Amino acid sequence: MISFSPPHVDDVIIQEVIDALRSGWITTGPRTKKFEQLLAEYCGVERVLCVNSASAGLELMLRWFGVGPGDEVILPAYTYTATAEVVVHCGATPVMVDVNSDFLISVEQISKAITPKTKVVMPVDIVGLPCDYDEIFAVVNKDEVRRDFQPSNEYQRKLGRPLVLADAAHSLGAYYKGKRTGSVADITVISFHAVKNLTTAEGGAICLALPEGFDAESIYKTLCSLSLHGQSKDALAKTQVCSWRYDVVECGFKCNMTDVAAAMGIAELPRYDSMILKRRKEIFDAYNQAFASDDRFQLPVYETNEKRSSYHVFALRVNGITEQQRDEIIHRIFEKEVSVNVHFIPLPMLTAYRNMGFSIDDYPVSYDNFSREISLPVYYNLTDEQIERVIAVVKESI
Ligand SMILES: *Cc1c(COP(=O)(O)O)cnc(C)c1O
Repeated sequence: MISFSPPHVDDVIIQEVIDALRSGWITTGPRTKKFEQLLAEYCGVERVLCVNSASAGLELMLRWFGVGPGDEVILPAYTYTATAEVVVHCGATPVMVDVNSDFLISVEQISKAITPKTKVVMPVDIVGLPCDYDEIFAVVNKDEVRRDFQPSNEYQRKLGRPLVLADAAHSLGAYYKGKRTGSVADITVISFHAVKNLTTAEGGAICLALPEGFDAESIYKTLCSLSLHGQSKDALAKTQVCSWRYDVVECGFKCNMTDVAAAMGIAELPRYDSMILKRRKEIFDAYNQAFASDDRFQLPVYETNEKRSSYHVFALRVNGITEQQRDEIIHRIFEKEVSVNVHFIPLPMLTAYRNMGFSIDDYPVSYDNFSREISLPVYYNLTDEQIERVIAVVKESI
Protein backbone atom coordinates (compact mmCIF):
# COMPACT_ATOMS: atom_id res chain seq x y z
CA MET A 1 0.00 0.00 0.00
CA ILE A 2 1.34 3.43 -0.90
CA SER A 3 0.46 5.67 2.04
CA PHE A 4 -0.93 9.17 1.69
CA SER A 5 1.24 11.33 3.92
CA PRO A 6 3.33 9.63 6.62
CA PRO A 7 5.34 12.04 8.79
CA HIS A 8 9.01 12.59 7.96
CA VAL A 9 10.93 11.24 10.97
CA ASP A 10 14.59 10.29 10.51
CA ASP A 11 17.66 9.80 12.75
CA VAL A 12 18.44 13.53 12.81
CA ILE A 13 15.01 14.24 14.30
CA ILE A 14 15.10 11.25 16.64
CA GLN A 15 18.52 12.30 17.97
CA GLU A 16 17.35 15.86 18.67
CA VAL A 17 14.29 14.53 20.51
CA ILE A 18 16.47 12.18 22.57
CA ASP A 19 18.75 15.12 23.43
CA ALA A 20 15.71 17.11 24.57
CA LEU A 21 14.48 14.21 26.70
CA ARG A 22 17.92 13.76 28.27
CA SER A 23 18.45 17.49 28.87
CA GLY A 24 16.33 17.58 32.01
CA TRP A 25 13.97 20.17 30.47
CA ILE A 26 11.07 18.85 28.41
CA THR A 27 8.40 21.57 28.37
CA THR A 28 8.67 25.15 27.03
CA GLY A 29 12.32 26.19 27.34
CA PRO A 30 15.50 26.67 25.33
CA ARG A 31 14.46 24.48 22.38
CA THR A 32 11.12 26.21 21.93
CA LYS A 33 12.85 29.62 22.06
CA LYS A 34 15.42 28.44 19.50
CA PHE A 35 12.72 27.11 17.19
CA GLU A 36 10.89 30.45 17.46
CA GLN A 37 14.07 32.31 16.46
CA LEU A 38 14.74 29.96 13.54
CA LEU A 39 11.16 30.42 12.34
CA ALA A 40 11.33 34.22 12.66
CA GLU A 41 14.49 34.28 10.52
CA TYR A 42 13.02 31.81 8.03
CA CYS A 43 9.71 33.67 7.65
CA GLY A 44 11.30 37.11 7.72
CA VAL A 45 9.47 38.51 10.75
CA GLU A 46 10.60 40.02 14.02
CA ARG A 47 8.82 37.65 16.36
CA VAL A 48 7.23 34.20 16.31
CA LEU A 49 5.44 32.49 19.19
CA CYS A 50 5.17 28.70 19.19
CA VAL A 51 2.05 27.04 20.56
CA ASN A 52 0.70 23.50 20.77
CA SER A 53 -1.45 23.70 17.60
CA ALA A 54 -2.47 26.08 14.84
CA SER A 55 -6.04 25.91 16.14
CA ALA A 56 -4.89 27.18 19.55
CA GLY A 57 -2.78 29.85 17.83
CA LEU A 58 -5.71 31.12 15.75
CA GLU A 59 -8.03 31.23 18.75
CA LEU A 60 -5.38 32.93 20.88
CA MET A 61 -4.99 35.67 18.27
CA LEU A 62 -8.73 36.17 17.84
CA ARG A 63 -9.03 36.55 21.61
CA TRP A 64 -5.94 38.78 21.80
CA PHE A 65 -7.59 41.05 19.20
CA GLY A 66 -10.75 41.10 21.33
CA VAL A 67 -13.06 39.14 19.02
CA GLY A 68 -16.26 38.08 20.77
CA PRO A 69 -20.07 37.95 20.60
CA GLY A 70 -21.56 40.28 17.98
CA ASP A 71 -18.36 40.32 15.90
CA GLU A 72 -18.09 38.78 12.43
CA VAL A 73 -15.14 36.91 10.98
CA ILE A 74 -14.99 36.26 7.23
CA LEU A 75 -13.50 32.92 6.15
CA PRO A 76 -13.76 30.56 3.17
CA ALA A 77 -16.37 27.78 3.06
CA TYR A 78 -13.67 25.56 1.58
CA THR A 79 -11.31 24.83 4.47
CA TYR A 80 -10.75 22.53 7.41
CA THR A 81 -13.14 22.94 10.35
CA ALA A 82 -10.42 24.44 12.58
CA THR A 83 -10.64 27.76 10.72
CA ALA A 84 -14.30 28.26 11.62
CA GLU A 85 -14.35 26.45 14.98
CA VAL A 86 -12.06 28.95 16.64
CA VAL A 87 -14.43 31.76 15.64
CA VAL A 88 -17.36 29.87 17.17
CA HIS A 89 -15.36 29.23 20.37
CA CYS A 90 -14.82 32.99 20.73
CA GLY A 91 -18.58 33.50 20.55
CA ALA A 92 -18.24 35.43 17.29
CA THR A 93 -20.09 34.76 14.02
CA PRO A 94 -18.33 32.91 11.21
CA VAL A 95 -19.26 34.47 7.86
CA MET A 96 -18.43 31.98 5.13
CA VAL A 97 -17.76 33.03 1.56
CA ASP A 98 -17.10 31.05 -1.60
CA VAL A 99 -13.71 30.37 -3.17
CA ASN A 100 -12.30 30.57 -6.70
CA SER A 101 -11.42 27.65 -8.92
CA ASP A 102 -7.84 27.88 -7.53
CA PHE A 103 -9.40 26.86 -4.14
CA LEU A 104 -8.56 30.27 -2.58
CA ILE A 105 -11.01 32.64 -0.90
CA SER A 106 -12.75 34.95 -3.39
CA VAL A 107 -11.77 38.56 -2.77
CA GLU A 108 -14.94 39.69 -4.54
CA GLN A 109 -16.99 37.65 -2.05
CA ILE A 110 -15.03 39.12 0.90
CA SER A 111 -15.84 42.56 -0.42
CA LYS A 112 -19.56 41.73 -0.55
CA ALA A 113 -19.59 40.10 2.92
CA ILE A 114 -17.80 42.84 4.83
CA THR A 115 -19.96 44.82 7.31
CA PRO A 116 -19.22 47.27 10.14
CA LYS A 117 -19.19 44.20 12.42
CA THR A 118 -16.36 42.50 10.50
CA LYS A 119 -13.41 42.35 12.88
CA VAL A 120 -11.23 39.81 11.10
CA VAL A 121 -10.72 38.33 7.63
CA MET A 122 -9.18 34.85 7.72
CA PRO A 123 -7.77 33.81 4.34
CA VAL A 124 -6.60 30.18 4.15
CA ASP A 125 -3.59 29.25 1.99
CA ILE A 126 -5.32 26.06 0.93
CA VAL A 127 -3.07 23.22 -0.24
CA GLY A 128 -0.08 25.56 0.16
CA LEU A 129 -0.84 28.34 -2.35
CA PRO A 130 -0.88 31.84 -0.82
CA CYS A 131 -4.14 33.81 -1.13
CA ASP A 132 -4.44 37.11 -3.04
CA TYR A 133 -3.18 39.21 -0.15
CA ASP A 134 -2.69 42.56 -1.92
CA GLU A 135 -6.30 42.45 -3.07
CA ILE A 136 -7.48 41.39 0.41
CA PHE A 137 -5.58 44.29 2.00
CA ALA A 138 -7.08 46.64 -0.60
CA VAL A 139 -10.56 45.57 0.56
CA VAL A 140 -9.94 46.00 4.31
CA ASN A 141 -8.23 49.34 3.63
CA LYS A 142 -11.08 50.80 1.56
CA ASP A 143 -12.16 54.22 2.85
CA GLU A 144 -15.69 53.10 3.60
CA VAL A 145 -14.52 49.94 5.39
CA ARG A 146 -12.16 51.95 7.62
CA ARG A 147 -14.85 54.55 8.21
CA ASP A 148 -17.50 51.98 9.23
CA PHE A 149 -15.15 49.78 11.30
CA GLN A 150 -16.34 49.73 14.92
CA PRO A 151 -13.30 49.26 17.21
CA SER A 152 -14.02 48.00 20.71
CA ASN A 153 -10.54 48.05 22.24
CA GLU A 154 -7.10 49.64 21.97
CA TYR A 155 -5.69 47.17 19.41
CA GLN A 156 -8.71 47.50 17.13
CA ARG A 157 -8.58 51.31 17.36
CA LYS A 158 -4.88 51.32 16.51
CA LEU A 159 -5.40 49.07 13.46
CA GLY A 160 -8.49 50.98 12.35
CA ARG A 161 -9.71 48.21 10.04
CA PRO A 162 -10.40 44.45 10.07
CA LEU A 163 -7.38 42.29 10.95
CA VAL A 164 -6.00 39.99 8.23
CA LEU A 165 -5.29 36.75 10.13
CA ALA A 166 -3.92 34.12 7.74
CA ASP A 167 -4.58 30.43 8.32
CA ALA A 168 -1.28 29.23 6.88
CA ALA A 169 -1.58 25.72 8.28
CA HIS A 170 -0.50 24.43 4.84
CA SER A 171 1.89 27.04 3.55
CA LEU A 172 5.17 27.13 5.49
CA GLY A 173 7.85 28.15 2.99
CA ALA A 174 5.47 29.40 0.29
CA TYR A 175 6.12 32.75 -1.39
CA TYR A 176 3.85 35.67 -2.23
CA LYS A 177 5.45 38.43 -4.34
CA GLY A 178 8.90 37.58 -3.01
CA LYS A 179 7.78 37.44 0.62
CA ARG A 180 7.65 34.24 2.59
CA THR A 181 4.47 33.02 4.35
CA GLY A 182 4.46 34.64 7.79
CA SER A 183 5.51 38.08 6.62
CA VAL A 184 2.52 38.82 4.35
CA ALA A 185 -0.66 38.98 6.48
CA ASP A 186 -0.95 41.02 9.71
CA ILE A 187 -0.72 37.79 11.66
CA THR A 188 -0.06 34.33 10.23
CA VAL A 189 -0.61 31.00 11.95
CA ILE A 190 1.25 27.88 10.75
CA SER A 191 0.55 24.26 11.74
CA PHE A 192 3.05 21.51 12.57
CA HIS A 193 0.42 18.77 12.89
CA ALA A 194 1.60 15.31 11.83
CA VAL A 195 0.20 15.56 8.28
CA LYS A 196 1.69 18.98 7.53
CA ASN A 197 4.91 19.62 5.56
CA LEU A 198 6.97 20.14 8.71
CA THR A 199 5.76 18.42 11.84
CA THR A 200 6.37 18.52 15.58
CA ALA A 201 3.62 15.84 16.02
CA GLU A 202 1.31 18.62 17.19
CA GLY A 203 2.26 22.27 17.13
CA GLY A 204 1.74 25.69 15.67
CA ALA A 205 3.44 29.05 15.24
CA ILE A 206 2.13 32.62 15.29
CA CYS A 207 4.07 35.05 13.07
CA LEU A 208 3.67 38.74 13.88
CA ALA A 209 3.84 41.20 10.98
CA LEU A 210 1.45 43.90 12.18
CA PRO A 211 1.84 47.39 10.71
CA GLU A 212 3.86 50.18 12.28
CA GLY A 213 2.60 51.27 15.66
CA PHE A 214 2.40 47.70 16.94
CA ASP A 215 5.40 46.57 18.99
CA ALA A 216 6.10 42.93 18.12
CA GLU A 217 8.33 42.48 21.17
CA SER A 218 5.71 43.59 23.66
CA ILE A 219 2.94 41.64 21.88
CA TYR A 220 5.20 38.57 21.97
CA LYS A 221 5.62 38.97 25.75
CA THR A 222 1.85 39.34 26.19
CA LEU A 223 1.26 36.20 24.11
CA CYS A 224 3.89 34.19 26.05
CA SER A 225 1.94 34.94 29.19
CA LEU A 226 -1.50 34.51 27.58
CA SER A 227 -0.51 31.06 26.25
CA LEU A 228 0.57 29.98 29.74
CA HIS A 229 -2.28 30.77 32.15
CA GLY A 230 -1.58 34.51 32.04
CA GLN A 231 1.32 33.84 34.38
CA SER A 232 4.03 36.49 34.67
CA LYS A 233 6.87 33.92 34.46
CA ASP A 234 7.19 30.64 32.58
CA ALA A 235 8.16 27.39 34.30
CA LEU A 236 11.82 27.71 33.30
CA ALA A 237 12.11 31.26 34.68
CA LYS A 238 10.59 30.03 37.94
CA THR A 239 13.35 27.43 38.37
CA GLN A 240 16.01 30.16 38.58
CA VAL A 241 17.41 30.72 42.10
CA CYS A 242 14.85 32.40 44.34
CA SER A 243 12.49 33.16 41.45
CA TRP A 244 9.54 31.25 42.77
CA ARG A 245 7.17 34.21 43.16
CA TYR A 246 4.85 34.86 40.24
CA ASP A 247 1.72 36.78 39.43
CA VAL A 248 -1.23 35.98 37.19
CA VAL A 249 -1.82 39.07 35.10
CA GLU A 250 -5.05 37.89 33.49
CA CYS A 251 -6.94 34.60 33.09
CA GLY A 252 -4.97 33.04 30.25
CA PHE A 253 -4.97 29.82 28.25
CA LYS A 254 -2.74 26.73 28.21
CA CYS A 255 -1.35 26.14 24.76
CA ASN A 256 2.43 26.44 25.00
CA MET A 257 4.74 24.25 22.88
CA THR A 258 6.94 21.67 24.61
CA ASP A 259 10.70 21.41 24.06
CA VAL A 260 10.25 17.78 23.01
CA ALA A 261 8.06 18.97 20.13
CA ALA A 262 10.33 21.92 19.34
CA ALA A 263 13.25 19.48 19.03
CA MET A 264 11.61 17.96 15.93
CA GLY A 265 11.24 21.41 14.41
CA ILE A 266 14.81 22.47 15.18
CA ALA A 267 16.09 19.37 13.41
CA GLU A 268 13.85 19.82 10.36
CA LEU A 269 13.65 23.55 9.64
CA PRO A 270 17.31 24.12 8.62
CA ARG A 271 16.94 21.51 5.86
CA TYR A 272 13.30 22.15 5.02
CA ASP A 273 13.97 24.08 1.79
CA SER A 274 16.85 22.03 0.46
CA MET A 275 15.34 18.66 1.29
CA ILE A 276 11.60 18.64 2.02
CA LEU A 277 10.35 21.40 -0.30
CA LYS A 278 12.76 20.31 -3.04
CA ARG A 279 11.41 16.77 -3.04
CA ARG A 280 7.78 17.90 -2.78
CA LYS A 281 8.27 20.16 -5.80
CA GLU A 282 9.79 17.26 -7.77
CA ILE A 283 6.69 15.18 -6.98
CA PHE A 284 4.34 18.03 -7.96
CA ASP A 285 6.25 18.48 -11.23
CA ALA A 286 6.08 14.74 -11.96
CA TYR A 287 2.31 14.65 -11.41
CA ASN A 288 1.87 17.86 -13.36
CA GLN A 289 3.74 16.49 -16.32
CA ALA A 290 1.93 13.17 -16.24
CA PHE A 291 -1.60 14.64 -16.12
CA ALA A 292 -1.10 17.83 -18.16
CA SER A 293 -1.37 16.14 -21.52
CA ASP A 294 -4.55 14.27 -20.52
CA ASP A 295 -7.67 16.40 -20.90
CA ARG A 296 -9.62 14.27 -18.43
CA PHE A 297 -7.83 16.19 -15.67
CA GLN A 298 -7.75 19.71 -14.30
CA LEU A 299 -4.39 20.50 -12.72
CA PRO A 300 -3.82 22.57 -9.57
CA VAL A 301 -2.09 25.94 -9.85
CA TYR A 302 1.05 25.83 -7.72
CA GLU A 303 3.40 28.36 -9.29
CA THR A 304 2.56 31.71 -10.86
CA ASN A 305 4.56 34.88 -11.51
CA GLU A 306 3.59 36.10 -8.05
CA LYS A 307 3.20 32.95 -6.00
CA ARG A 308 5.00 29.77 -5.16
CA SER A 309 3.24 27.02 -3.24
CA SER A 310 4.65 25.02 -0.34
CA TYR A 311 3.60 21.96 -2.38
CA HIS A 312 1.43 20.72 0.48
CA VAL A 313 -1.41 18.87 -1.32
CA PHE A 314 -1.58 17.96 -5.00
CA ALA A 315 -5.27 18.65 -5.56
CA LEU A 316 -6.09 16.96 -8.85
CA ARG A 317 -9.57 17.41 -10.29
CA VAL A 318 -11.29 15.16 -12.80
CA ASN A 319 -13.27 16.97 -15.50
CA GLY A 320 -16.98 16.34 -15.99
CA ILE A 321 -17.66 13.93 -13.12
CA THR A 322 -20.15 13.92 -10.26
CA GLU A 323 -19.38 13.57 -6.57
CA GLN A 324 -20.57 9.93 -6.67
CA GLN A 325 -18.29 9.17 -9.62
CA ARG A 326 -15.36 10.74 -7.80
CA ASP A 327 -16.07 8.56 -4.77
CA GLU A 328 -16.17 5.49 -7.01
CA ILE A 329 -12.85 6.43 -8.60
CA ILE A 330 -11.30 6.81 -5.15
CA HIS A 331 -12.65 3.39 -4.21
CA ARG A 332 -10.91 1.86 -7.24
CA ILE A 333 -7.66 3.67 -6.51
CA PHE A 334 -7.64 2.25 -2.96
CA GLU A 335 -8.34 -1.23 -4.34
CA LYS A 336 -5.09 -0.91 -6.25
CA GLU A 337 -3.23 -0.16 -3.01
CA VAL A 338 -2.77 3.57 -3.42
CA SER A 339 -3.99 5.93 -0.67
CA VAL A 340 -5.56 9.16 -1.79
CA ASN A 341 -7.68 11.72 0.02
CA VAL A 342 -10.10 14.61 -0.48
CA HIS A 343 -9.26 18.16 0.67
CA PHE A 344 -11.72 19.29 1.94
CA ILE A 345 -15.40 18.62 2.49
CA PRO A 346 -16.74 22.21 2.38
CA LEU A 347 -17.86 23.28 5.85
CA PRO A 348 -21.52 23.88 4.88
CA MET A 349 -21.79 20.13 4.09
CA LEU A 350 -20.84 19.14 7.65
CA THR A 351 -23.55 18.60 10.28
CA ALA A 352 -22.26 21.19 12.76
CA TYR A 353 -22.36 23.96 10.17
CA ARG A 354 -25.61 22.79 8.55
CA ASN A 355 -27.13 23.05 12.02
CA MET A 356 -25.95 26.68 12.14
CA GLY A 357 -27.94 27.31 8.97
CA PHE A 358 -25.21 27.11 6.32
CA SER A 359 -26.14 25.47 3.03
CA ILE A 360 -23.78 24.20 0.34
CA ASP A 361 -26.17 25.63 -2.27
CA ASP A 362 -24.74 29.06 -1.43
CA TYR A 363 -21.19 27.95 -2.29
CA PRO A 364 -21.28 26.54 -5.83
CA VAL A 365 -17.55 26.87 -6.56
CA SER A 366 -16.58 25.19 -3.29
CA TYR A 367 -18.92 22.33 -4.12
CA ASP A 368 -17.61 22.00 -7.67
CA ASN A 369 -13.97 21.98 -6.45
CA PHE A 370 -14.79 19.37 -3.80
CA SER A 371 -16.95 17.09 -5.94
CA ARG A 372 -14.20 16.49 -8.53
CA GLU A 373 -11.15 16.57 -6.26
CA ILE A 374 -8.69 13.77 -5.48
CA SER A 375 -5.55 14.55 -3.43
CA LEU A 376 -2.53 12.47 -4.44
CA PRO A 377 0.26 11.26 -2.11
CA VAL A 378 3.11 13.77 -1.63
CA TYR A 379 5.89 13.20 0.92
CA TYR A 380 9.66 13.17 1.19
CA ASN A 381 10.06 9.39 1.16
CA LEU A 382 7.76 8.75 -1.82
CA THR A 383 10.01 7.09 -4.42
CA ASP A 384 10.07 7.70 -8.19
CA GLU A 385 8.67 4.19 -8.73
CA GLN A 386 5.80 4.92 -6.36
CA ILE A 387 5.07 8.19 -8.18
CA GLU A 388 4.84 6.24 -11.45
CA ARG A 389 2.56 3.71 -9.76
CA VAL A 390 0.25 6.46 -8.43
CA ILE A 391 0.00 8.03 -11.89
CA ALA A 392 -0.75 4.73 -13.58
CA VAL A 393 -3.35 3.70 -10.99
CA VAL A 394 -5.15 7.06 -11.11
CA LYS A 395 -5.30 7.00 -14.90
CA GLU A 396 -6.58 3.41 -14.97
CA SER A 397 -9.24 4.17 -12.36
CA ILE A 398 -10.97 7.02 -14.17
C1 LIG B 1 -4.50 21.34 9.90
C2 LIG B 1 -5.26 22.58 9.70
C3 LIG B 1 -5.52 23.47 10.76
C4 LIG B 1 -5.28 23.13 12.20
O1 LIG B 1 -3.99 22.84 12.53
P1 LIG B 1 -3.72 22.16 13.95
O2 LIG B 1 -2.26 22.42 14.17
O3 LIG B 1 -4.04 20.71 13.81
O4 LIG B 1 -4.57 22.83 14.94
C5 LIG B 1 -6.12 24.68 10.48
N1 LIG B 1 -6.49 25.00 9.23
C6 LIG B 1 -6.28 24.17 8.20
C7 LIG B 1 -6.67 24.61 6.83
C8 LIG B 1 -5.68 22.93 8.40
O5 LIG B 1 -5.52 22.08 7.38
